Amino acid sequence: MKGKAVIVARLLENTGLNRLKRAVLHQYLIVLNYHRITPDVRSFVSDFDDNVFGPTVSNFRHQMAFLKENAHIISIDDLKDISINGQKPSRPSVLITFDDGYKDNYTLALPILKEYRIPALFFIPTRNLIERRVGWWDEISYIIKRAKAGIISLGEPLNRDVVIGEDRHKVKSELMYMMKTTPFLNLDELIDTMAAATGIDRPSLKEQNAELMTLQELREMIKLGMKIGSHTHSHHILANIDEDSQYQELSYSKEILEKELGVGVSAISYPVGRHDSFNNQTKWLAKQAGYEFGFSFYAGFNKLHGLDFYDIRRVSPATNNLQFLSALISFPGIFSSLW
Ligand SMILES: [Zn+2]
Repeated sequence: MKGKAVIVARLLENTGLNRLKRAVLHQYLIVLNYHRITPDVRSFVSDFDDNVFGPTVSNFRHQMAFLKENAHIISIDDLKDISINGQKPSRPSVLITFDDGYKDNYTLALPILKEYRIPALFFIPTRNLIERRVGWWDEISYIIKRAKAGIISLGEPLNRDVVIGEDRHKVKSELMYMMKTTPFLNLDELIDTMAAATGIDRPSLKEQNAELMTLQELREMIKLGMKIGSHTHSHHILANIDEDSQYQELSYSKEILEKELGVGVSAISYPVGRHDSFNNQTKWLAKQAGYEFGFSFYAGFNKLHGLDFYDIRRVSPATNNLQFLSALISFPGIFSSLW
């Protein structure tokens, strides 16, 4: 699908249609979602989940320069005004977001955001922040990358065997799917089972700590105009847990961030953010917990007026191809769903 999007994007850019269309797109809100920025190092491979790495530093800089020139970049603080008061920016509005609180957001993205004065919004899972623990997807990747080939049993409640063979990417995707779709799964216990079955220790606290931003770094980012949102406390998939646990995940993380950072937290991004990762109950509970905005992540664009504040769609620009971004700004209806 990515290849198809890039071909169509190139065609539109070459015919000049993009520039024409941009002129009438003031009513759209495009929310971009990044996770990690890739260092400008040839053949970079991480110890953790490589799938969450987006554009390289130099390409991220190109993307921000392009957006500064061609879009109306907004902050979360502007969103309600623009949507409700019917302001009409002359260009499509774009909000930049990051999920999961990775260290490279501070070391690699922040200097560029600061340079272009872009007020990005960072969604932080507070358990990871406070306990200095990476997410389950990173721990699974860490173990699978190091495990010897063989068959491991995942035990209760999955009762599944997993074959670790040549294609590590395939087995990781299989595990991720199970993690995302199995209700009431104790993820911590499952990672322990995998560690025991493979004989690979879970990553040390030192290794995990190095991957994440600290409270002090977040405070510094706020001073530079960046915004902080919640990504729940323990990154559970909200649709997979009961109502009380959902409310706890939503409200506890808000409380921690507001207390530790001294700012109001008005936005949440639902972990994983697919159609089936949250539901109407989640949206209602987010409102009860005091959030004004809830962000999903199953692609798509938003119309500024009549926006569903608890299902604001986001799209990933996790590519080094600037033409895709250009096409997305010009034809959100086509490109936000192709990706
Ligand atoms: Zn996440």
